[in-house]
Amino acid sequence: MPISHIGCDDALLIIDLQNDFLPGGALAVKNGHELAPLINDIIKRGFSTVIASRDWHPPHHQSFSTQGGKWAQHCVAGTQGAEFDPHLNLTKITHIIHKGTDPKCESYSAFEDENGRPTGLEALLKARSIKRVFLCGLALDYCVKATALDAIKAKFDTVLLHDATRSIHKPELTLNDLQKKGVKII
Ligand SMILES: [Zn+2]
Repeated sequence: MPISHIGCDDALLIIDLQNDFLPGGALAVKNGHELAPLINDIIKRGFSTVIASRDWHPPHHQSFSTQGGKWAQHCVAGTQGAEFDPHLNLTKITHIIHKGTDPKCESYSAFEDENGRPTGLEALLKARSIKRVFLCGLALDYCVKATALDAIKAKFDTVLLHDATRSIHKPELTLNDLQKKGVKII
């Protein structure tokens, strides 16, 4: 399936393309810097809804190793590390969704945190009568995956733009898993 015939009921979701997830950042995903030019190209295919999520943590977020969590401190709200990749064409982004803002709760998905509290993404998509979502960004095996699964749960036709993602671990398991749950991979 090519990315063509994009209509007004399609949305592009760009997940966490932020400095801390790029090479040189606090939680770098290998080759993450390759995505911005690819995504800038994809945006031009006619998406009228382009939503970028960002991990937007308070300084003492529970996911940080300093707080007993799994990850190095990253994407602290308002810092350089939390900013979008400067090579991403921000002028085409119509909406920004913040996630991980509660110090006591992790939020891999751009739809809701792990306590099930919505970020507003689903309501936004439904208000714009979006039927199909295309996903790209970082990291495939964490936040992109969790967002794709929630998109399926919310009954969106869900398409993963595999080339426009990068993974922390080998991607095969994630791709299999997503495909089994009904995500289309192109
Ligand atoms: Zn985070």
